[in-house]
Amino acid sequence: PEMLKGKRVIVTGASTGIGEQIAYHLARMGSHILITARTEAKLQKVVERCLELGAASARYVSGTMEDMAFAQHVVREAEASLGGLDMLILNHVGASYFGFFDGDVEHVRKLLEINFLSYVAMTTSALPMLKESEGSIVVVSSMAGKVGFPFTVPYSATKFALDGFFSSLRQEFTIQSINVSITLCILGFIDTDRAVRAAAEVLRELPAPRDECALEILKGAALRRRELYYRYSSTRLPLLLRDCAAELLDYLVRSRYRLPGTPGT
Ligand code: NAP
Repeated sequence: PEMLKGKRVIVTGASTGIGEQIAYHLARMGSHILITARTEAKLQKVVERCLELGAASARYVSGTMEDMAFAQHVVREAEASLGGLDMLILNHVGASYFGFFDGDVEHVRKLLEINFLSYVAMTTSALPMLKESEGSIVVVSSMAGKVGFPFTVPYSATKFALDGFFSSLRQEFTIQSINVSITLCILGFIDTDRAVRAAAEVLRELPAPRDECALEILKGAALRRRELYYRYSSTRLPLLLRDCAAELLDYLVRSRYRLPGTPGT
C-alpha cells in the first residue's frame, strides 16, 4: 500500500467488474483516482465509495472509448486535475458475443477501436506525464490474448493486438532508457457479472474472485513486473505448453467448454 499512497492513477472501465475493485483497493491505499466508463450513475457511486474508503481524491469522466478524442480527453483531465500521472490502468472492454465467428467485420473493427486503439491513444497522450513521473502502464488482457480461444474470436484478436503493441513498446523503452514500466496482465476466468453471464454455464472451471484479481494486478503494477498471471495455475502453467506442445494446449483450451456436440463433452 505504501508504494501506491498518494499516487495519481487513471483506471478505465471502473464502473463495474475488475476496474471497480481496482479503484476500491487504490482508495484504501490512499491514491488519487480518476475513473472512467460510459455509465455516469455507476461512476458516481464508485467515486463516493472511493472517498469513503480513504482515497486522497476521486473523480470521474464519463464517455465512450469508441471515440479516440474521448480517450485523449480523459488523459487531459488527469493532467488538469491531478497535475500529472503515475499510473495508467487500461482495463475497459467493449461488449462482444459468445459463439462461433459470425463474419461481422464491422464488429471486429469496432471492438478493435474500443479494446485496442483507445489503449494506444491513451498511452500516447499519457506518455509525457508518465516519463516525467517514471510511472507505469498496466494493460489488462486475457488468456485469450496469448492462445487462440473458440467462441470469442473478435475479443481474442483485440487482446493479441495489445500484446504485440505493448511488448514491442517495452522493447523500445528499454533501448531508449525510458523508465516507464509496462505490466501486461493475463487473466483467467474472473467472477465479474459480464463474464459469469457469458460463460459460467459453458465453462468447466469456477471463476476466481474479482477483488483478489484486482489486488494482484496492483501488486504486479507496483512491482513493475512485465507480465502478471492470475490465477497462475490456470494461465501461466498451461501456457508453458505453447512452444513445445501447441496442439495439446489447443486441446486443453477446447476441453474447458461444456457444449453439445463439442468433443469431450
Ligand atoms: P466488465 O465487468 O464488463 O467491465 C467492463 C468495463 O468497461 C465497465 O466499466 C464498462 O462500463 C466499461 N466499458 C464497456 N464498454 C465501454 C466503452 N465503449 N467505452 C468505455 N468504457 C466501456 O469487465 P471485466 O470482466 O471486469 O473485465 C475487465 C478486464 O479484464 C477486461 O479488459 C477483460 O478483457 C479482462 N478479463 C476479464 C476476464 C473475466 O473473466 N472477467 C477474463 C480475462 C480478462 P460501461 O458499460 O459503464 O461503459
